[in-house]
Amino acid sequence: MSNTAEPGAVEAARRLAMDAERVVVKAGTNSLTDEESNLDNEKLDKLVDDVVSLLDQDRDVLFVSSGAVGAGTGRVGYTDDTVEASQALSTVGQSHLMHRYTESFGRYDRKVAQILLTQNDLDNPDRFTNFKNTVETLLEWGIVPIINENDAVATEEIRIGDNDMLSSSVAIGVDSDLLVTLTDVGGVYTSNPKEDPDAERIEAVGRNYADVQTLVDRSSSASFGGIQTKVSGARTVSEHGIPAVIAKSTEADVLEKIVAGKAVGTLFVPPNGSTDD
Ligand code: GLU
Repeated sequence: MSNTAEPGAVEAARRLAMDAERVVVKAGTNSLTDEESNLDNEKLDKLVDDVVSLLDQDRDVLFVSSGAVGAGTGRVGYTDDTVEASQALSTVGQSHLMHRYTESFGRYDRKVAQILLTQNDLDNPDRFTNFKNTVETLLEWGIVPIINENDAVATEEIRIGDNDMLSSSVAIGVDSDLLVTLTDVGGVYTSNPKEDPDAERIEAVGRNYADVQTLVDRSSSASFGGIQTKVSGARTVSEHGIPAVIAKSTEADVLEKIVAGKAVGTLFVPPNGSTDD
């Protein structure tokens, strides 16, 4: 299969990324915690440095951060994985997470705000409008909205499920110009890069989407680090004309490189962005 999309479409998508005024950045639990499930200050500060590099370029950033259940697990030292335990752990982890974000953004005199959402909030037009108005006000004030699912009240029926889908809905709903999903895997690969040394990074996904989907479907979510939901979220966003990139959270200056049009991670090209049809 082809490891890239049509060259014209890739270039057009990179230009959109360079021009992005509003960026949704999503960071996963692995990008924030260590092996004992404690919040990793170095990782968190690095993510904040990256977000601030976009703010310094006068771009709006909405930051979707996981890590509440993970950070709560490390703090409480409780590992039972019932839904009730995860919900309770999320409340411990979420406040700890926000405390650390407040400190970390504070290094740059930047203020943060916490927004917790459920599927109901996204589906209900009034609630969604209220959410959007709050975001617009915060952005106007130069405050960084940090968004997570409201795990304390999100039981099966009202769960969004994971923050890959949440960030995709948010990116579309707030008219963003770019979605970046940061993960411990550096993008979409031809096989699991953690197990296969010959795994190749897929640079861009466009008309080769069906091939990429087949490839991703073949690998189980557990061994592949949940890449399916990242691919599905990125694809949905790109179908709305918004470029999406899945990239490695530990890569130096990862966000700055993406908005400089560099070939980082895997880029999902909006189908209508193609210039060589
Ligand atoms: N809301 C969950 C948390 O903060 C994350 C869900 C996910 O893994 O994407 O722990």
